[in-house]
Amino acid sequence: MTEPRGRHFFANPGPTNIPDSVLLATAHASVDFNDPAFMAVYEECRAGLKRVLRMEAGELFLYTASGHGAWDATLVNLFSPGDHILMIESGYFSESWAGMAERLGLVVETLRADWRQGADPAGLTALLRADGGRRIRAVCAVHNETATGLALPLAALRAAIDAAGHEALFLADTISSLGSFEFRMSDWGIDAVVGGSQKGLMLPAGMSFTAVSPRGMAAHQEARLRRGYFDWAAMLSRPHRSFMGTVPVTFFYGLRESLRLLEEEGLENVFARHRRLARAVRAAVRAWSSNRGPQLFCANPARVSDSVTTILMPEGHDAEAVRKIARTRFNVSLGGGLGSLGGKVFRIGHLGDLNEPMVMGTLAAVEMSLTLAGVPHGAGALEAAMASLLEEE
Ligand SMILES: *Cc1c(COP(=O)(O)O)cnc(C)c1O
Repeated sequence: MTEPRGRHFFANPGPTNIPDSVLLATAHASVDFNDPAFMAVYEECRAGLKRVLRMEAGELFLYTASGHGAWDATLVNLFSPGDHILMIESGYFSESWAGMAERLGLVVETLRADWRQGADPAGLTALLRADGGRRIRAVCAVHNETATGLALPLAALRAAIDAAGHEALFLADTISSLGSFEFRMSDWGIDAVVGGSQKGLMLPAGMSFTAVSPRGMAAHQEARLRRGYFDWAAMLSRPHRSFMGTVPVTFFYGLRESLRLLEEEGLENVFARHRRLARAVRAAVRAWSSNRGPQLFCANPARVSDSVTTILMPEGHDAEAVRKIARTRFNVSLGGGLGSLGGKVFRIGHLGDLNEPMVMGTLAAVEMSLTLAGVPHGAGALEAAMASLLEEE
């Protein structure tokens, strides 16, 4: 079989497209990770990452690991065996993080939520008020549930914790939101932020991090879960205040370039671009949804994600068949349904290095794939997307 011609359109919500300038920057010869020239690049990257996080105080720990490693690191460094944490249910990723916490010996309580609507902050206040013995050590939220295309209002959740007068730490997974839509670690009182390299930061997978507030660092002093690779205390004794063993130096040449791109465009403009592209994708899906076609999985307009759209197939139609046609016939890679949503949904990632024609190309390929797969859908989706792109904010 000949290789497909033209660009591979990568419309996954992670990893994401890597800009050519980041790819080139990453192709760097080996350097000693203690070399002063590298240390300067390294410190520049840490400072830039803190600006993207809107982090004013605390410690930043980086790991050679995917996002799951940062989940693990965050839990083992903040808690002790038998501690209770409260997970805000959002979907596949909140369940996976909760499952990891249980395997580490934590007791996970859950704020239940409809996956298509998202959690209710008032419910969080009620649960915390009911915790008279103050057993809950932390509230954990996935800022952007990449499986469902639904974002949580972290500032409102912060206010809900405060309304209960509860001292719990507030942990947030920003792996698919950071660098794509607004996040403010310090203003929103987040005590530990989990992030990864391969989504909004437009780098390859393999590096992740936790940003920790001063309150989080105080909790770390008391935490007694066993840890090896991910021990923050051991990391703090190293010149890099992060990592174990060899520092993955090439990531930092790439990160320096991706931070430069984000700051050259300006974070507010980056967010506006994500809003614009996301709105166009949703306009297309709304058009398809007439005639009993695929529809937005997120049924709460206030919670729609600006970095990924999850599309629910009509009953009796397989999302994997659509994805397969998109991949094999049009060289477009779409995200699949995760966990219990497997086969029922597909996902369009619209985060990172992306512009209007890339989104329009993806939408056209999706529509052709729906047609070829015999999936009913309404007309006018591409026109609706284009009209949306031409609208003023
Ligand atoms: C991608 C993702 C993860 C997992 O990250 P990996 O790098 O694949 O381990 C966790 N949480 C969210 C919200 C994600 O989008």
